[in-house]
Amino acid sequence: MKTKIIATLGPASSSPAMLKQLMNAGADVFRLNFSHSSHDAHKEAIANIRQLNTELNRHTAILADLQGPKIRIGVMENGETKLAEGHKLVFTTHECTCTADRLYITYPEFAADVKPGEDIILDDGKLLMRVLETNGNDEVKAEVIHGGVLSSKKGVNLPNTKVSLPSLTQKDKLDLEFALQNRVNWIALSFVRKAQDILHLKDEIAKRITDGYSPKIIAKIEKPEAVEKMDEIIAAADGVMVARGDLGVELPLEQVPLVQKTLVNKCLAAAKPVIIATQMMEGMISNIRPTRAEVNDVANSVLDGADALMLSGETSVGMFPVEVVMTMKKIIGEVEQFQNVYDKRHIIPETEKDRLISDAILYSACSVASESNARAIVAMSHTGYSAARISSQRPRQDMYIFSNNHELLCTLNLLWGIKGIFYDNIVTSTSKTLKSLTEKLKNDGLIKQGDLIVYAASTPIYVSGKTNMLKLAYA
Ligand code: PGA
Ligand code: MN
Repeated sequence: MKTKIIATLGPASSSPAMLKQLMNAGADVFRLNFSHSSHDAHKEAIANIRQLNTELNRHTAILADLQGPKIRIGVMENGETKLAEGHKLVFTTHECTCTADRLYITYPEFAADVKPGEDIILDDGKLLMRVLETNGNDEVKAEVIHGGVLSSKKGVNLPNTKVSLPSLTQKDKLDLEFALQNRVNWIALSFVRKAQDILHLKDEIAKRITDGYSPKIIAKIEKPEAVEKMDEIIAAADGVMVARGDLGVELPLEQVPLVQKTLVNKCLAAAKPVIIATQMMEGMISNIRPTRAEVNDVANSVLDGADALMLSGETSVGMFPVEVVMTMKKIIGEVEQFQNVYDKRHIIPETEKDRLISDAILYSACSVASESNARAIVAMSHTGYSAARISSQRPRQDMYIFSNNHELLCTLNLLWGIKGIFYDNIVTSTSKTLKSLTEKLKNDGLIKQGDLIVYAASTPIYVSGKTNMLKLAYA
């Protein structure tokens, strides 16, 4: 199966026994959500995953998800309060206990940034308020449009407001420090608004890293501004998450499906992985079966061409974390029998001189594999570039990527169809190395004698990062 599964960890899923079951059920990536859990809990999960990777000979990836400029209200006086339509209240930027008339909002510049008429959405869209007036300093008066029960620390979305909060908060910086110390493979940033947010994060990372470790960055698309600037954000990031939870609150809900399809197409064309997230199997938080609509959502995301599908509450706090991964896997397996999933070769070789040769070879590798109906594509990757380039063309063939870098192999585990294999016995001759990789694949039972294999490699073999050779041969 090619489409990868990301399972968010939480109380329901972090024990070694549960992690092992999730890995065996088909989880390819674990997400640590820094909006929840302590660093200690994350640290323990990371150690358990690494231990299991060694024990089970896997390359399960770890994705650290930074909260970003998420806005919340404060703690409610009695835990919760009911707000009726037409009720008028005040938001204050000074910390206080919240009541039905006065709500603390964790956004110091709120009164200065917001304008009368703008929407304030609470608790993922359950309540809607409209701004009446602001004093430009510390208080904003609003009216309840859709009422409901509001409880402590609920999230706030401001779809129309130009939010001036920094893209990386103080908390994010501490979480980033932790993520880097623990050498996670991917770092996702929430509420990205522009390419600069990603470039800034990359700068912060570069400042803190001295060795070869280089975590890859996922831009979470969940703001209208990010949708408008998707091209520059995709160009700046290493991958994208269609974060449909917040996106569906900040954008008219009916626009989310086409934003998803557009983002997937653009990411495929840019050879960057794309994740579809949130409420994929929401019903399975408390039911053993998904709804038929959920099955369709998973199936359509596979057909759109996503690299990976993400589970959130389903695996972090749900009652059936293992069953939900198994169910998702079954749907993926069924849908991947459909021809439309494959051969999306709309990625064209770059004409820039330094990438032209490798791009043309990697493009041709998939083309030759398709024309010859080969069994597998084999390549060596030093930075992950070749793997991403091959994967993004969605070949039907198995893709075996060899590397002597365990961290890189874990990183690549998020990419559609990529199976990473550790190999550090590189000899000086290209043909001898390819022969030895082939023997390894045969010994592991992944290919058989006589299978037709496409190889993309570099010659001389020790010059890394420059794929310049294509070979088609029987194993
Ligand atoms: P979250 O991101 O779960 O961190 O909010 C995903 C989403 O908004 O869909
Ligand atoms: Mn979100």
